[in-house]
Amino acid sequence: MRTWDVVIIGGGIIGVSLSIALHKRGARVLVVERGEPGREASHAAGGMLVDCPLETPTALQPLATASARMYPEFAHELEVESGTKVDLRDHGTIFFSPADHRRNLELTTSVLLPPQLQKLEPALVDSEPPHHAAFYLKERSVDPRALTAAAIKTAKNRGVDFSSGDPVTAVNLDNRRVTGITTTKTVFHAPKIVNCAGAWSGQIGPLAFPTRPVKGQMLCLAMHPRDLLKHVIRAPQVYLIPRSDGRLLVGATIEEAGFDKRTVITTIQRLHHAALALVPELSSAKILEDWAGLRPGTPDALPILGVTETPGYYVATGHFRDGILLAPITAQVMADVITGTDPRHDLFPFRPNRFVEM
Ligand SMILES: Cc1cc2nc3c(=O)[nH]c(=O)nc-3n(C[C@H](O)[C@H](O)[C@H](O)COP(=O)(O)OP(=O)(O)OC[C@H]3O[C@@H](n4cnc5c(N)ncnc54)[C@H](O)[C@@H]3O)c2cc1C
Repeated sequence: MRTWDVVIIGGGIIGVSLSIALHKRGARVLVVERGEPGREASHAAGGMLVDCPLETPTALQPLATASARMYPEFAHELEVESGTKVDLRDHGTIFFSPADHRRNLELTTSVLLPPQLQKLEPALVDSEPPHHAAFYLKERSVDPRALTAAAIKTAKNRGVDFSSGDPVTAVNLDNRRVTGITTTKTVFHAPKIVNCAGAWSGQIGPLAFPTRPVKGQMLCLAMHPRDLLKHVIRAPQVYLIPRSDGRLLVGATIEEAGFDKRTVITTIQRLHHAALALVPELSSAKILEDWAGLRPGTPDALPILGVTETPGYYVATGHFRDGILLAPITAQVMADVITGTDPRHDLFPFRPNRFVEM
């Protein structure tokens, strides 16, 4: 009978990054994925690496900042090991913030005056919404599809095992300790299991983590010229994320719609119009694609990280709007917890049993 040290449920960016971190520490790891690895939220994401204090929950700020700092090395390692470019961009973000937030932001950056804005991003015209000011934020962005594909390739090259197209139906226990998992086709044995099943994490027994799907619809345009925009633009109605190959992502809605991943034409049109209002030159941009994905939400909008009350059963889920950003730090702290090392970060706000206490 084949056994592994750790079985990870879910082949999204969180599960796959963790599989690499555990493998580096000498663990034999199996990732069990219901469909094809990397095709859910991690495929749908925009890839902004946001660690701005106005938008990040206070309790999450230390992990967000640490993860943003880890990104150049994280991305470089995946690119070298997989031979896949992940388009980590360092041009920064132009962020339109309500005027009443101005004081908080001015502590870290200053208001962009119209001539400065014009110089930074000439195609952005008359763009300042009423009562908003523009700020420059030193943030990066990445292509989540390329990143996740690079992580999967890296994990496979290193010797992480994958089982695809077979959903996990239960975590198996013997005398309250984990022994493995049951899928629709088979049983896999391991003394440690990690639930990284994103929006679906709550569906796998015996513990019902309170994750829920939060739908996001997105649109992708082809910029002409391909470097029409350089910066990520974040405005109240819409955000724009340029890629180096000339694609421009326009996102995204935040909807409570259950496990429904269909796009709605009127919603996509609204995103499109909001993009055109910011950058009229996009009127000639070809529409390449639209899609929707399901963010893993939690009741307090914080991730769920750590060991559960069931010995051997761990969880890393609920990354909501920041799972791409948080992948490197999640992999590091969870590998620490699973291998019995001090994680060097306070994980108390993210403890799995906090909802029982609510
Ligand atoms: C529209 C949109 C825009 C976003 N933009 C950003 C952004 O700009 N920046 C950012 O940092 N984050 C962003 N996010 C959030 C980010 O995508 C998520 O937080 C992150 O991808 C979560 O990763 P994950 O691995 O936990 O989940 P997923 O990528 O969803 O992976 C979970 C995996 O588990 C599998 N699974 C589920 N159930 C089972 C089962 N029973 N058995 C086996 N496998 C199972 C699924 O098939 C899936 O592959 C965005 C999300 C969306 C939808």
